[in-house]
Amino acid sequence: MISLPGAAGPVRSDGWLEGARHIESPNYDERPEGESVSLIVVHAISLPPAQFGGEDIVRLFTNRLDAAAHPYFAQISHLRVSAHFLVRRDGELIQFVSCRQRAWHAGLSFWQGRSRCNDFSLGIELEGCDDLPFMDLQYLRLLQLLRRLCVHYPITALVGHSDISPGRKTDPGPCFDWQRLAAIGNFPGTLPRAPWRIEQGQVKSR
Ligand SMILES: [Zn+2]
Repeated sequence: MISLPGAAGPVRSDGWLEGARHIESPNYDERPEGESVSLIVVHAISLPPAQFGGEDIVRLFTNRLDAAAHPYFAQISHLRVSAHFLVRRDGELIQFVSCRQRAWHAGLSFWQGRSRCNDFSLGIELEGCDDLPFMDLQYLRLLQLLRRLCVHYPITALVGHSDISPGRKTDPGPCFDWQRLAAIGNFPGTLPRAPWRIEQGQVKSR
């Protein structure tokens, strides 16, 4: 039995989660008037690529990445990006943007006939890459977080970045085990659309 220290607490009225470490990113703006959150987008990120444990993801999301620190950073340090959440390899949960605000994680994206998925989604980054397995602690923390978010928002779908930006993005990648989410998920009665739906408290594949 793997034990996960701490807990992803409830979503506060200001859109910040109890129990998460809060590091505010300046990279967000307002959702369109009257827009509600209905989609969760799962991503993977590691900086430098396929290296884990440093502070460079936090630096990227807070516009402090040193372009000279790694050859790859020169290509991305100018980006103004963020996600609502990051789940680190050890299960630590960091929140960068209030769920009430629009984080800048999806970019050019489409879902069920709509574009600009940032308008109506929450973005969750897992520290990882395309060719290494994610950690048990990450799945546990992700499920804890998903349960909290599904209680608070009328989530209708849970997708990967690659589902909404096909051909442009590959994350969370082939090592992300969606079936594992289905096996241990226990969600409130929400009804997501393809490719994953939540039925009778369980995440199911189509
Ligand atoms: Zn992504």
